[in-house]
Amino acid sequence: MADVTIAKADKFYGGFHALKQVSVDIRDGEFVILVGPSGCGKSTLLRMIAGLEEISDGDIKIGGRIVNDLPAKERDIAMVFQNYALYPHMNVEKNMAFSLRIKKVPQDEIVRRVARASEILGLGALLDRYPRQLSGGQRQRVAMGRAIVRDPSVFLFDEPLSNLDAKLRVQMRAEIKALHQRLKTTTVYVTHDQVEAMTMGDRIVVMHDGIVEQFGTPLDLYDKPANIFVASFIGSPAMNILTGSVESVDGVNRFRSVAGAIWPLPSSATVLPGQAIAYGIRPEQIRHEAGNLRVTIDVVEPTGADTLVHGRCRDNITLYFRQRLDLRPGQEIDVAIDADTVHLFDGATGARLN
Ligand code: ATP
Repeated sequence: MADVTIAKADKFYGGFHALKQVSVDIRDGEFVILVGPSGCGKSTLLRMIAGLEEISDGDIKIGGRIVNDLPAKERDIAMVFQNYALYPHMNVEKNMAFSLRIKKVPQDEIVRRVARASEILGLGALLDRYPRQLSGGQRQRVAMGRAIVRDPSVFLFDEPLSNLDAKLRVQMRAEIKALHQRLKTTTVYVTHDQVEAMTMGDRIVVMHDGIVEQFGTPLDLYDKPANIFVASFIGSPAMNILTGSVESVDGVNRFRSVAGAIWPLPSSATVLPGQAIAYGIRPEQIRHEAGNLRVTIDVVEPTGADTLVHGRCRDNITLYFRQRLDLRPGQEIDVAIDADTVHLFDGATGARLN
């Protein structure tokens, strides 16, 4: 067990500044997700923690010890990769035991650790099989088994589920979470999938262009996104973001979008008439009931339990009703929002205002 501290870390690839002054404190036993779009630097950061990539500036500490110059094998970490990286000529048992054999761990200890990992992962019946005789999910479990037998201070996962089909991904997601609840080993997990991030992490680091946009619990990020980037990245379907400005009518401030729609402002808003702002409202926070907003429906996507609607209230907006509704393209519906669920951002910087 160990905490992991990244302090003002930079990474340059030649002249390209891939990570810019990244600071993240991961507590002992915590499950932290690094999430962000392709190229944001999350794999680079994970590989720097692993010791597979040099750090250009700053410090990385594992268990209080600076590991900047420590080789990967001395960092007491175990990494699980997207492509599993199993040895094709070894069966499941030998794949799991390999790193322990290299470290000259006594045979009875190897047997004990492999038995424990295969019990945890339900691999007992597969120990004699070769990787080619396993399904994708089973291979992924063996890759995790190889990490578990090492009993490391820190687990590092690099997009471990992206080769699996959607259903298996959901199942493995729950398995990895259950595994963490059982072992309580500090875990850093890279994904580009915000649903994976929200459902698995104790805390989430949202990255973009080599910087940390926000670091917080899933609900912090959902309820109080620090800026427009986090607001539109976290949450599915994505938050509606309208651009416009504050106008005052009879002493009451309201939002007018560039397209001319009028929306109410939250009571917590400290904004001034004329101020350029972005107005964020989550699709699930727009209710299908008489209110002062009218939406023309363009496309209806029923999921069975819910109804996703793309429409227009002057601006294009997405609505997500948690009920089955019989709606048709071209229809006009009344909707209402609770103004206090609205997120306001600075029109120029994108930073949160309320
Ligand atoms: P993805 O989800 O696509 O894997 P990522 O967020 O993990 O993306 P990284 O692989 O960390 O992104 O890469 C961050 C940036 O650094 C990218 O712009 C990438 O092109 C660049 N980069 C990564 N490795 C190298 C390298 N060896 N040499 C030069 N540039 C690199």
